[in-house]
Amino acid sequence: MSESRLFEAKVRKTIRRFGLFCRDDRLVVACSGGKDSTVVLSILGKFGYDVEALAVDEGIKGYRDSTLEDISDFCKDSGVPLRVVSFKEEFGLSLDRIARKKGIRPCAACGVLRRYLINKFARGYDAAVTGHNLDDEAQSIIMNIMKSNVHLLPRLGPKTGHVFDSKFTNRVKPLYLCPEKEVAAYAFRKKLKIRFTECPYSGSSYRAAVRDFLNGLEAEHPGTKLGIISSFLKLMPALRKLPISKQLNYCSCCGEPAGRSVCSACCIVLENVHGYCKARKQ
Ligand code: SF4
Repeated sequence: MSESRLFEAKVRKTIRRFGLFCRDDRLVVACSGGKDSTVVLSILGKFGYDVEALAVDEGIKGYRDSTLEDISDFCKDSGVPLRVVSFKEEFGLSLDRIARKKGIRPCAACGVLRRYLINKFARGYDAAVTGHNLDDEAQSIIMNIMKSNVHLLPRLGPKTGHVFDSKFTNRVKPLYLCPEKEVAAYAFRKKLKIRFTECPYSGSSYRAAVRDFLNGLEAEHPGTKLGIISSFLKLMPALRKLPISKQLNYCSCCGEPAGRSVCSACCIVLENVHGYCKARKQ
């Protein structure tokens, strides 16, 4: 079997093993124009699933404009409907503007706002598919442990779903067991138009430091990342039963699901527009 076929078989097996979605489900793929989301969109289309694409334009000059062009070309060529939503239109602020604020961590703000929009605009679909690969997930597990964010661990895994609410769309990760190198090799073999550019904010992030650390370990001790994932999968059922905050409110500003009276996305917007968000002090 060719390497591409082996890769596709691994994705198919992951979908089945974790029951990510069913044949008749309507899926929306959260796309960035990068290799991971383009590969997953391409493979699900090839498998015959009913897929649409959702792209978030964070407003990162000189970076997101070009990746959005790539995903837009891909969708046009393959006949996949694409919807683009932007930070500017939805929040009135681009990430570039948010990043100018002193003390802000661009990736942390970006992650909160992106997740918010994906959840909001994936409503009505059976699942929101993301391109997270094995490397991404191993980094997230280690980051949450090192930052003592144990309460965030149950949100990880190939399929979300430890908190149920009609305003939440299940997020699923068909590339969960695929190392980043395999995804890149597949994209290359399939000649997918991807520029492999890096976001200008990525170098300063905590994730980048953890990524470099894990890459170093993996080079010395192959199998490290898979070991992290395998251990996490064994722990996941117990983690999801832990009595850690599952209480869900609705944001008093926007009505979206929130852990506090005002959701994290509205806090970021309020702090950047008014310089203050009361809910942060609660
Ligand atoms: Fe957003 Fe950070 Fe990713 Fe750039 S690297 S797209 S700022 S999360």
